[in-house]
Amino acid sequence: MTRSARPLRARIHLDAIRHNYRRAKSLAPRSRALAVVKANAYGHGAIAVARTLADEADGFAVACVEEALELRESGIQEPMLLLEGVFSPDEIALVERAGLAMVVHCREQLDWVLNAHPSRRLDCWIKLDTGMHRVGFSLSEFAEVNARLAACPHVGERVAMTHFARADEIDHPYTSAQIEAFEQALNGARIGRSLANSAAVFAWPQAHGDWTRPGIMLYGVSPFAGTGSNANMDAGDLRPAMTLESALIAVRDLDAGEPVGYGGRFVCERPTRVGVAAIGYADGYPRHARDGTPIAVGGRLTRLIGRVSMDMITLDLTGFDEARPGDPVELWGRTVPAGAVAEASDTIAYQLFTGIGRRVPLMYE
Ligand code: PLP
Repeated sequence: MTRSARPLRARIHLDAIRHNYRRAKSLAPRSRALAVVKANAYGHGAIAVARTLADEADGFAVACVEEALELRESGIQEPMLLLEGVFSPDEIALVERAGLAMVVHCREQLDWVLNAHPSRRLDCWIKLDTGMHRVGFSLSEFAEVNARLAACPHVGERVAMTHFARADEIDHPYTSAQIEAFEQALNGARIGRSLANSAAVFAWPQAHGDWTRPGIMLYGVSPFAGTGSNANMDAGDLRPAMTLESALIAVRDLDAGEPVGYGGRFVCERPTRVGVAAIGYADGYPRHARDGTPIAVGGRLTRLIGRVSMDMITLDLTGFDEARPGDPVELWGRTVPAGAVAEASDTIAYQLFTGIGRRVPLMYE
C-alpha cells in the first residue's frame, strides 16, 4: 500500500508503554499484572504493544476470543484472559486450543464450562458483581459457583475477580464497600484475587490482590484525568504513548466579526490568524471539542476555534507570526495531554484512543 501524503499519523512510543507497565508493577510489587490490550490496545495496536511487553508482562487481558487469537497468531505466548469470557459454547474449543483463561460471569457461561469436554484444563476467573451492577455473579452465589468449578475435573486455576465503578474517586466509600463485599463473599476462600484497574493500582493498594489489570495507565494517561480529583498522585510519572500529529494545510487572516467554520460557532473578536490542520472527526478527533481545546503548533500551545469538520479543524494562530502550511500540529501527546483534550470534549481519553480512524496510520518508534 502506498503511504498517504496526508500529514496525519499517530506515533506510538513503545518505550513509554514499557515504562508505564513497569510503573504498574512497581506500584503493586507483590501482584502480577495483566496488561489490558483489548480494543487493539486502546487504539495503540495490540500486536505491537503485546510484542513490546512480551518479555516482561505477566500476561495480557483482551475482551474476546478474536482479539486473543490475533495475538496468539502473531506469536504472543503469555497467559491471556478473556475479560468478557465466551459468547457461545462453541468458543470454548478455541479457548482450549489457544490456551486462554476466561472470565465466567453468568449461569450460561458456567454451564458451558461445566458441560465442555476439553482435552486440557480451563482456567476460569469468577467475576463477582460487588457494585458495578453490569455483569458478574451476586455475592451470595460465589460459594456455590466456586465449589462447582473446583469440583470439575477439567477446570484448572480459579481466580475471583471484580471491577470497580468509582476507583478514580480517591477515598470514595463506594470502592471501600466493593472491596469489603468482595472479601465477605470470598469468606477466606483460598483462591487468587483480582480487583484493580489503573486507578486502583494507584489509589487502592488494599485492592492490589494477586493480579492487577492496568489499562489506561499503560498508555500514559492518568486514570484520574477529568475526575476533578487532586490525585494525579504520581500519575505524572506516566509517559504518553501516543502522539497524534498532523500539519497545517492553510493559514489565513480574518477580521474581527468574521465567523469560522460550520454554524459560525466561533466569531473572531479581533483580527485573528486562523490555521487549518488536516484532521477531523472522521479521523477520531472529537467533534464535541469546545473552542479553547488545547492544540500545539510547532511545540507551542494554542487552542481550537470553530467546529470540528470531517477532515479539518481550525485553530487560533494569533501571535504565531511565522506559522506556515506544513508546520507540525500536535492534537495530543507529549505537549498536549490526551486527558485535557478529552475533558474539553466531554469524553475520556479511552474513547479518543479507541476512536482513532482508519485513515490514521500508526507509526511505531
Ligand atoms: N479490568 C476490566 C474488567 C476492564 O473492563 C478494564 C477496562 O475497562 C480494565 C481492567 C482496565 O481499566 P483501566 O483502563 O481503567 O485501567
